[in-house]
Amino acid sequence: MGQQDRACNPSRRSCLCPGCGSDRSLDFGRCTVPVELSHADAPTIIKQITEALRESRLKKCHDCQLFFRWPQLSSDDLATLYQNLPAAFWEYNAKEVGSWNRARSILASRYATSESISILDVGAFDGAFLSLLSDRWEKFAIEPSPVGQGKLRESNVHVIADFATNLDLTEHAGRYDVVTLFDVFEHLPRPCQTLDQLSLLVKPGGILIVSTGNAEHWSWRLLGGQQWYLHSAQHLCFATLPFFRRWAESSGMQVQSSVRHPHQIGSLRRRFVQSVETIHAWAKRTNRKRMLGLVYRIPGFRYLSHKQGLTFTTSLHDHLMVVFQKPTTNN
Ligand SMILES: [Zn+2]
Repeated sequence: MGQQDRACNPSRRSCLCPGCGSDRSLDFGRCTVPVELSHADAPTIIKQITEALRESRLKKCHDCQLFFRWPQLSSDDLATLYQNLPAAFWEYNAKEVGSWNRARSILASRYATSESISILDVGAFDGAFLSLLSDRWEKFAIEPSPVGQGKLRESNVHVIADFATNLDLTEHAGRYDVVTLFDVFEHLPRPCQTLDQLSLLVKPGGILIVSTGNAEHWSWRLLGGQQWYLHSAQHLCFATLPFFRRWAESSGMQVQSSVRHPHQIGSLRRRFVQSVETIHAWAKRTNRKRMLGLVYRIPGFRYLSHKQGLTFTTSLHDHLMVVFQKPTTNN
């Protein structure tokens, strides 16, 4: 469990929650060293910026229940980081992406494929999620990457902006039946401001679907700052259901449903292996020799005695999807 953090005492050092601005936080230990620092091909400027995060720590806001990395990069450093990231194409199988499959089921139960609805995917990249949906639905995207924008236009998706902050709200406010945000929340330096902005885009009676890592998952409780989701310097904020409920209350949205899901859908065996690997990482970190002995005696897990570095437990249900509904004006 975290401890009240003296380093966050404003008289010693200003450590303010990026969600609500509170100066009261709990400390959950040192974060794992960002992968950008050890990556051989990372440009020097990226290594210089992420060096500031080598000793970063995981904090939890006492007031809004948001987890966040501290210190946070300045907005200038974040902009430089994104400008200098090598253009990457993520390898994925759309059928295995946990958030897309959950969201597709939610939308299928809510809207007929023949219905005429408009959907905006924020951070749509190449449009792989939108391509899973009915061709009758009108599709829109916000996407910073020029490569992604090109692919989206080829698929007849309307690219309305490169960043949510570059939107003309007079043109887009209240326009979309559905707004989706997958694996973007954790990149947001001011998450409540961005959620506020996205909620303005939703029609009365429409929904906003957000999926990101769930910092209340048991693997976070065991591993704190060593959980795999902290591997990247680009990951800044980590949600919890109480945080989302609090934001909804303040913004006039309603939490319609929430579901836990994996980043990548895996077999029961894969989940079991990753659960044991997580328990092993915790036992090693906290020097629990008896537990380590037990793990090594499980057939097939002896290899863990040589394991170094992070375990990417991407098939555990450590992600959270929340569906927010905008009340109709009559409510
Ligand atoms: Zn807060």
